[in-house]
Amino acid sequence: MLFGRQSDVAGRGWFRTDSGRRPWRLSAKLLIASSIATVIGFSAICISVMLDMRRGEEELARQTLENLATGIDSEIARNIELYDLSLRNVASNLVMPEINKVSKEIRHLILFDHAATAKHFGAIQVFDAKGRLTIDAASLDPAPEDRSDEEYFQVHRASRDVGLYMSRPMLRRGAYSIVFSRRVTGTDGGFLGVVVGSIRFSYFHDLFGRLTLDPGDTITVLRRDRTIIMRTPFDLDIIGKSLAERRNWSADNLKQGSAYSGVGPVDQTARLYVRSGSTNLFFVVVGKPVATILKLWHREVLRIGAIMLVLIVFVVGTTLFLAREIGRRAKAEDRLEELATTDSLTGLKNRRKFDLEIDAEWRRAARNKTPVALLMIDADHFKAYNDTYGHQAGDQILVGIAICISDTVRRAGDCPARFGGEEFAVLLPGLSAIEAVTVAETIRLKVEQWAEDPGVTTISTGVASITPAGSLDWSDLIEAADKALYAAKANGRNQSVVAAIPQLALVA
Ligand code: GH3
Ligand code: MG
Ligand code: MG
Repeated sequence: MLFGRQSDVAGRGWFRTDSGRRPWRLSAKLLIASSIATVIGFSAICISVMLDMRRGEEELARQTLENLATGIDSEIARNIELYDLSLRNVASNLVMPEINKVSKEIRHLILFDHAATAKHFGAIQVFDAKGRLTIDAASLDPAPEDRSDEEYFQVHRASRDVGLYMSRPMLRRGAYSIVFSRRVTGTDGGFLGVVVGSIRFSYFHDLFGRLTLDPGDTITVLRRDRTIIMRTPFDLDIIGKSLAERRNWSADNLKQGSAYSGVGPVDQTARLYVRSGSTNLFFVVVGKPVATILKLWHREVLRIGAIMLVLIVFVVGTTLFLAREIGRRAKAEDRLEELATTDSLTGLKNRRKFDLEIDAEWRRAARNKTPVALLMIDADHFKAYNDTYGHQAGDQILVGIAICISDTVRRAGDCPARFGGEEFAVLLPGLSAIEAVTVAETIRLKVEQWAEDPGVTTISTGVASITPAGSLDWSDLIEAADKALYAAKANGRNQSVVAAIPQLALVA
């Protein structure tokens, strides 16, 4: 039982020094916190740089696509304009009265220039007010044809202000073409028919074929009403369809001069679509898969991400390792300090620790103007006990007295210590002499009860309580308690004696 209680005392000793570990714990926490902050900071910078890079890639792609769309738009517009000049020429010359007086050959020469016979352009034809073919650039004696049902014929017949009309894609003379037409208006403003020409799809195939496109890139030519005129990659199913018929497709997605990133109207590939800003009869939309645009970026993200991951793992690993080492070191230092300040036999504070404590408490009491009490405890007739029962039995008595002291003195600031040999000192900050003597008596009675032979292992205690003032210092407190202890011995032992206040004044 005695040894069990001894370890209790030692346990309390460990608890008391816990506060000594705090600086180490704090620095381990600080290390972990600063590592986390570093990792978060670096990650934030990396993410921000990568997002900037992504925005840069997207902006570059948008500019490139815009330039391509504008280039294609201008190329098509220039050819249509040249072709339109020929149509205008025919429409204006047809109304000259003299045109019907010359031979068919001369009339052909007057009406049709060489531009109209260029590659990919269909022969110009003239239809009268009833839609019947009257003149054909390809033949002096054309076979009869009737175009009165065609949309472009009806559009021109209904209105004289249509100008150049661009048809939906259609089969014309065995080839897919876009038909361009102009109204022939008489001098009186009457409808005399239409002049019709066409551009074959081969023109677009040829034009797009000259461009270097990545797989997945798309170029779409649309009429202003959003009818798809031509698209590469070519898909006959969608030619002539209007985007308005496409489900999940908003008109806002391709506003003039704007870009749109997402799934397009034709397939499910997410692309960046850029629309040319022209005011022609048509516009061009160029699309590039977002995955292609961000391919390089994705590679960079993977590379930088992998480097970051390695760095983070390294920093976290090093931090945990260092934190553990700091913890271990802190524990070792705590243990060393514990050993350095604890009396190995009794588990109480040793003399060295007691001197530090009394110095600190004395100064605190001086600041707060509160008393500091001290008990000086000495085993009675201990030499005789040792002589009778042996030194080891004497040691057990000392441990027992220490347990009685520890059981009684439990306040946080109290400091029970082995003062030396069979003497103990108990520092009781804030206690008056009367309160301190109560503690002293409690200890004395506990020792008395515990002892098998009351005559041998009693204790005598000198009690003193001083409020620090003037030139007094803590050695005066020890001296006063010591004197009281001598008085207790002199009075017959097994008792507590309080140092009288007048006595203290003399000491001071
Ligand atoms: P008094 O009642 O006047 O205090 O008589 P005393 O015999 O206790 O006093 P004294 O100072 O003459 O003797 C102290 C004895 O305490 C001497 C020594 O044998 C014993 N002692 C000191 N330290 C230890 C210790 O660590 N273990 C043991 N067993 N005895 C010790
Ligand atoms: Mg002694
Ligand atoms: Mg003694």
